[in-house]
Amino acid sequence: MARIETDVIVVGSGPGGATLARELALKGREVILVERGRWHKWSVGRLSSLFTINKMVRSKEGGLMSRGITVGGSSVVYNGNAYDPPTWLASEVGIDLSEEVAETKSEIGIRPLPEDFCKGWSATQRLVEAAADLDIALTPQQKFINPEKCDPRCDDCMLGCRRGAKWTAREYIEEAKAHGARVLTRAMVERVIIEDGHAKGVKLRGPDGADEIRAEKVVLSAGGIGTPIILLHSGVEGAGEGFFIDPMNVVVAVGKYRGPDHEMTFSYASEEFVESEGYLVGNLGSRVLSGNKLMHLLSLRGLLRPHQLPRMMGVFTKIGDTPGGRIHADGTIEKPYSPEDQEKFRKGTETCKKILLKAGADPDSFTVAHNIGGHPGGTAAIGKVVGKDLQAYAAKNLYVCDASVFPRSPGRPPTLTIIALSKHMAKEI
Ligand SMILES: Cc1cc2nc3c(=O)[nH]c(=O)nc-3n(C[C@H](O)[C@H](O)[C@H](O)COP(=O)(O)OP(=O)(O)OC[C@H]3O[C@@H](n4cnc5c(N)ncnc54)[C@H](O)[C@@H]3O)c2cc1C
Repeated sequence: MARIETDVIVVGSGPGGATLARELALKGREVILVERGRWHKWSVGRLSSLFTINKMVRSKEGGLMSRGITVGGSSVVYNGNAYDPPTWLASEVGIDLSEEVAETKSEIGIRPLPEDFCKGWSATQRLVEAAADLDIALTPQQKFINPEKCDPRCDDCMLGCRRGAKWTAREYIEEAKAHGARVLTRAMVERVIIEDGHAKGVKLRGPDGADEIRAEKVVLSAGGIGTPIILLHSGVEGAGEGFFIDPMNVVVAVGKYRGPDHEMTFSYASEEFVESEGYLVGNLGSRVLSGNKLMHLLSLRGLLRPHQLPRMMGVFTKIGDTPGGRIHADGTIEKPYSPEDQEKFRKGTETCKKILLKAGADPDSFTVAHNIGGHPGGTAAIGKVVGKDLQAYAAKNLYVCDASVFPRSPGRPPTLTIIALSKHMAKEI
């Protein structure tokens, strides 16, 4: 058994872990970043990423959940939408990330897609106009995407970006490496070594067998599903409870006109119902509508008849669900939806249908695919498993830095908040 020693171990190389590793390496700290996935290269931007990078899991209740298991975590296959942290994080939890959010936006160049970039998307513009007729403002989204490198006719964000236009956590990992951080890939952390109430390192299973890394500090950034599994294997009570996933319903219909042909998914959305009704709505682009994994996994095959394909269009709704699920130590997931969640789904789905009808959808052609989530969190919540400094109550020098610490769903895609949280934490440890 090999034994390595370092200052800080960061487990998980998604936006949370990569940011932390980079910030600490820039400060000259000795960091080892441990990632269970591979550094996939060939499958990025190809359909094969659906089988190599993007792992789907199913809850006991049947909901589908998507995770990127690769260097860079889910950021390799995310849509690249950027949302500011929820206001309650500062007002209720006492973590004000405004400085770190501003820093991240300027560093990565986060901004809304420019009008020029979007103007060729005629089917999307039809949805925008239909929504406007209903007094719903679908607006261009703030993205982790550099429009100068991006091809507006490509909708491959969720397969991974081949052009380097979409920011992924791999950019921060490269910087961390350039400043001395070590990155161990294909290394699955099994548990944290806790002695006398202090974290002392991790036990992991790497390509060469079992290993142990000793460190002054251990930070878990293995995501809302990965982190609680490690905590539970380490004997930390309360981990895994309070799980949310921000599930979405995908509403598809056949319209009168040509649907989105090479147009970007989630390029336009409306946040106006997030605070009042708990859901947001956004457009679907060409990939999702032309037989990609979502269509298959959502059992929409019945709609995929060749003559209808060109006229298909879709809108999704994503809800901020109640933190009522649970991750178990063996990786099984419970995710029941509360009556409040069902009501949010109902209202969000109705809004999607209204927009589609206004845009010319055939009312007999609606298909709704339910409960697909990609924003896991809540499973090591502040106030329950960790303190406001993100240190575990169960062990000193053991920290959690990812969406697991959010006591409830931010209600919007969380990557910008997670990056800002890691920058915040890097100042403290
Ligand atoms: C299809 C899809 C689209 C999305 N779109 C958006 C979007 O537009 N905007 C947005 O803000 N968010 C989006 N998200 C969500 C976003 O990608 C995640 O919230 C974010 O990546 C979470 O960051 P993280 O660092 O906490 O965890 P992750 O990105 O999940 O990274 C965790 C890493 O830890 C590794 N790991 C897990 N367990 C272990 C272990 N035991 N040992 C070692 N390594 C381990 C995993 O392999 C993974 O690489 C999307 C997600 C998906 C799946």
